[in-house]
Amino acid sequence: MRVYRGRFAPSPTGDLHLGSAAAALVAWGSARACEGALVLRVEDLDRPRVVPGAERRQLEDLAWLGLDWDEGPDRGGPHAPYRQSERGEHYQAAIAALARRNLVYLCDCSRADIARVASAPHPGDEGPRYPGTCRDHGRGPREWKRPPAVRLRVPDRDVVVHDALQGEVRQNVWRTVGDFVLRRGDGVHAYQLAVVVDDLAMGVTEVVRGTDLLASAPRQALLAELLGGTPRGFAHLPMIVGPDGTRLAKRGGDVTLRELRAAGTSAETVVGRLAYALGLADAGARSARALLARFDRDRLRGRVAAPLSSGAAAG
Ligand code: GLU
Repeated sequence: MRVYRGRFAPSPTGDLHLGSAAAALVAWGSARACEGALVLRVEDLDRPRVVPGAERRQLEDLAWLGLDWDEGPDRGGPHAPYRQSERGEHYQAAIAALARRNLVYLCDCSRADIARVASAPHPGDEGPRYPGTCRDHGRGPREWKRPPAVRLRVPDRDVVVHDALQGEVRQNVWRTVGDFVLRRGDGVHAYQLAVVVDDLAMGVTEVVRGTDLLASAPRQALLAELLGGTPRGFAHLPMIVGPDGTRLAKRGGDVTLRELRAAGTSAETVVGRLAYALGLADAGARSARALLARFDRDRLRGRVAAPLSSGAAAG
């Protein structure tokens, strides 16, 4: 049996909100409950969106919440570096391996198509399917309208993902999103590529994160397969929503851990309320360690939303 290796992969684009805290808590619990390891990886590919100091603040907030990790930018580890901005050669090597099998091609379609790909696509972020305009040009030289991006030549078949919490997800990636971008024309590697290359290189056995990234799972499973890696499992947890079931907005309590801390809320209150919203525990404050003693992740199965009880953020 493989030893469980989980990861939490925040983007240092600001302070952590309750939704990210929930994902971190469940990723941590899933690893710790089976005495597995947890990797903390910083997803800072989208340089213009990176906020100076956010990485340090996120790590401090996670530690304040009572979480710990075995490898990360602050602790080092056998798979360093743990910042994506320092891992470009791994992404290059993966593209070269795919290119040797004629699985990539160059594309100079408009920048608007490909501008956002460095960040993880959350619902509403993704544009229309790429129709394959440059597919038959191959990789040979031609007159470029702009520096070309690299796209994956996606096979026309279903990809099936067995998600531990959401069940079977089946998608024909080619028909749904088309040949997706692996590297932008300006040389920035895409989130979809980086996340798969890193999870494979870091020996991650299961990806735990919110259902807002469920739509990316088939693309990532396909890429992992094409890169010849051992497939990772997936567990997409329900999204934390406001008491009325709608998306968390500032008014509905989508505050950052920083703000809660500053308002005097205890980490136990935050953990207790997230655990209760997720259905992991009865109401009441508790430490992350205490939650672990009765951590039953199956209680999350099949749920897509986890409503915070009212006043949850006020603490
Ligand atoms: N860095 C991504 C985000 O902040 C998460 C990526 C992942 O968990 O696969 O949304």
